[in-house]
Amino acid sequence: MVHTTNKETLNPADGNKNPAVFLDRDGTIIHDAGYIKTPDLVRFLPLAPEALVLLQNAGYRLIVVSNQSGIARGLISLDQLCAVQNRFFELLQNHNITLTDYLFCPHHPNGAIAEFQKTCTCRKPAPGMLLAAAKKYNIDLANSWMIGDKSDDVRAGQAAGTQTIRLISPLSSPLATHLSVEDSRPDFYAENLFEAAKIIIRQLQESMGQE
Ligand SMILES: [Mg+2]
Ligand SMILES: [Zn+2]
Repeated sequence: MVHTTNKETLNPADGNKNPAVFLDRDGTIIHDAGYIKTPDLVRFLPLAPEALVLLQNAGYRLIVVSNQSGIARGLISLDQLCAVQNRFFELLQNHNITLTDYLFCPHHPNGAIAEFQKTCTCRKPAPGMLLAAAKKYNIDLANSWMIGDKSDDVRAGQAAGTQTIRLISPLSSPLATHLSVEDSRPDFYAENLFEAAKIIIRQLQESMGQE
């Protein structure tokens, strides 16, 4: 599903290239309720819509990149995923938030469903989804950001060449409260998506002030 936006406001763009904020879905924008099976489990994390509006108004394209290995594992069907996604899009629309694109990876190397059981280039920490979107929308990766609650989100952003923010909060994901020494170090940590958005806006204002 692809939404398009023509809104250009603050324009942090470098020449004709578009800056984007790549966003993980579960544990970043909505509550991570495990493998979300039904639309009623789709709930925004606190201040997530406000954060997306802030980024959108600053001229960033919003692109969701989501690992959905529940498909390969046979835990959720594509129909169920579709219903969940439609609810997600509906909630975003209620806040006048427009995604430039929404990408998901249904694969897993140890999946139970043959069709999706593979080592792919799209499952984060691989940067495949970010690179595909960057090509499609002429994204300026160096001036773009990846926000997620897991080390794999940070690694995907770094592999694609974006700046990275990792959300660390008991609210974003139960697992995210425990950082491992092997975790990739992001450019910034933030308590929630709104704090992350404020970091991005602050960095943008600083870079524009330096010109
Ligand atoms: Mg997540
Ligand atoms: Zn994949």
